[in-house]
Amino acid sequence: MAEMGTLHDAFVDELRDSYDAEKQLTKALPKMAKAAHSPELREAIESHLEETRQQVERLEQVFESLGEKPRGKHCDGIAGIIQEAQAVMQEDFDEPTADACLIASAQRAEHYEMAAYGTLVAWARAMGHDEAADLLQETLDEEKAADEKLNTLAEGGINEQAAEGAHQSEEEEEEPVGAGSSKRSSSSSPRRR
Ligand code: ZN
Ligand code: FE
Ligand code: FE
Repeated sequence: MAEMGTLHDAFVDELRDSYDAEKQLTKALPKMAKAAHSPELREAIESHLEETRQQVERLEQVFESLGEKPRGKHCDGIAGIIQEAQAVMQEDFDEPTADACLIASAQRAEHYEMAAYGTLVAWARAMGHDEAADLLQETLDEEKAADEKLNTLAEGGINEQAAEGAHQSEEEEEEPVGAGSSKRSSSSSPRRR
């Protein structure tokens, strides 16, 4: 088999990657919504979950427009982002800090998706796959709007609230240097600072 792959082949590969990424997100987002303390943040994640389900269907339309069967190919990138999000959710943070961390994780996912769909739209346009390009552009716009919404929530109060409590423990426990090490040896979770 001496035939070399073309941009079209790479395009279909990347579509499969995104198809799998969206499916991973439909499983991860409900957990993130449940972990949110701010009702607005929970609502934002839940509404993006609904969009994400539609994005899965939209990708199926893209495959169809190209005469391809919808098929996923494991997306390691989003898997890593989700894994890190889950690790942060297990930390014992105060509520606004936990929400700030959820936003940070979710924005990593959105930026990853924006990069992927930006490329897909550009490649589809370059190859004249206009129906696919239009569909992918719709999703790209949704990812950008989701990212913006998260920004608004972070900067509209959550970061500020989290910052209010950021240095409290330092003020409360005026421990001499070194005194904490034996006292806190049982707790291995790095909760401060
Ligand atoms: Zn093509
Ligand atoms: Fe998405
Ligand atoms: Fe998204």
